[in-house]
Amino acid sequence: MSDPKKLFLKTYGCQMNVYDSERMAEAMAADGYVLTESAEDADLVLLNTCHIREKASEKLYSDLGRLRPLKAAKPGLKIGVAGCVAQAEGAEIKRRMPLVDLVVGSQAYHRLPAMVRGEGALIDTDFPVEDKFDLLPVRVGSRGPVAFLTVQEGCDKFCAFCVVPYTRGAEVSRPAARIIDEARGLVARGVRDITLLGQNVNAYHGAGLGAAGDWTLSRLLREMAQIEGLARLRYTTSHPNDMDDDLIAAHGDLPKLMPYLHLPVQSGSDRVLKAMNRKHTAAQYLALVARIRRARPDILLSSDFIVGFPGETDQDFEDTLALIRAVGFGAAYSFKYSPRPGTPAWEKAGVGSDVADARLLQLQAVITTQQRAAQELMVGRTVGVLYEKPGRMPGQMVGKSDHLQAVHVTDHAGKVGELVQIRVLASSSNSLSGERISA
Ligand code: SAM
Ligand code: SF4
Repeated sequence: MSDPKKLFLKTYGCQMNVYDSERMAEAMAADGYVLTESAEDADLVLLNTCHIREKASEKLYSDLGRLRPLKAAKPGLKIGVAGCVAQAEGAEIKRRMPLVDLVVGSQAYHRLPAMVRGEGALIDTDFPVEDKFDLLPVRVGSRGPVAFLTVQEGCDKFCAFCVVPYTRGAEVSRPAARIIDEARGLVARGVRDITLLGQNVNAYHGAGLGAAGDWTLSRLLREMAQIEGLARLRYTTSHPNDMDDDLIAAHGDLPKLMPYLHLPVQSGSDRVLKAMNRKHTAAQYLALVARIRRARPDILLSSDFIVGFPGETDQDFEDTLALIRAVGFGAAYSFKYSPRPGTPAWEKAGVGSDVADARLLQLQAVITTQQRAAQELMVGRTVGVLYEKPGRMPGQMVGKSDHLQAVHVTDHAGKVGELVQIRVLASSSNSLSGERISA
């Protein structure tokens, strides 16, 4: 038997890309490819790209440049570009980097194996009518106890700074039956913690089971909470305007729905929120947070922020800091505004790099303080932890708490996939540590 062909797969960007990469690896496995950790060993190098900010996009071209000597030394090597840069730039990638053999957009990657076999177009950035998820192989093989599961793709919100509606297309939801089947398959393979993914996941409106009509995300979560063996559910990323009453209620009703919610707000200034086309005010966001906390008082909130959006004044930035102080986040991702071609904000003048840098640092300092305070609050408490892997120290296990905080536990008998109760003994900069109390 000949040696299996090898695939080197690099993933940039969000969790949805992580999920897509996993599905592409599985699709290629059906054609006899095994994953390798090194591009030098590979027969196929696939870069699954992110287009959200300029830096993420440019990373692709610097990585491709670095592959030149390898391609020269190994002419049989195939190099593919997948994901959102592939979707946005298509043939331009091959023009700029002739060493690229194939370009496959984020909606067409079920066709990747055929492309690699030389049976399809070498550039495919269609939004095909067929559903890629129906055509990908069933998920098999071994894996850890935590998984992502895409339930919704695309976005109809058109925030003024964002490329997602162009790269991922219009909002599309997968039917509940397919999602539940996929979740059951994951649980059968040892998964206990599933995060439902979507660019706008709480706008989910997929076909329900039987003749039920479309389901909302809360309806889907209520059904999934009944899957035996599945211990934890999460979902990300949500838009504040799609947090409906039943979804908020689900946070109080479903013990399996973990007390952590990523709810991007971007800015605390009404002027900037309007210019961003976010379609809500700071006060509406704060009122929403209060309703969510009434349903689940211990919930930990995280968010996304953009600083330096065109026209953002010092006062606008102060309003963002005021919102952060009013909410008290457990974590947050913050970014300097990056103008993206084709978006409504693209041609507007930014605030200047130095101003944006200074604001980013200031905002991140406030968030770090809040994150540490949220961790400190856990010290002395009993929390659930799902072990994901052994730690670096002998007898140590590493996992996530219900609140998605990283936890190190001294537990010589601990096993990956175990869900245990621990007492938190200490908090360090980015993680908690503790001792096991019981299974
Ligand atoms: N759908 C989510 C939402 O409504 O907030 C987020 C999707 S996006 C992949 C993740 C984050 O990237 C956004 O929340 C935003 O903070 C950031 N982002 C998007 N476009 C950006 C841009 N042009 N410059 C800087 N950050 C950006
Ligand atoms: Fe982008 Fe999110 Fe806005 Fe959609 S809701 S346009 S994905 S930031």
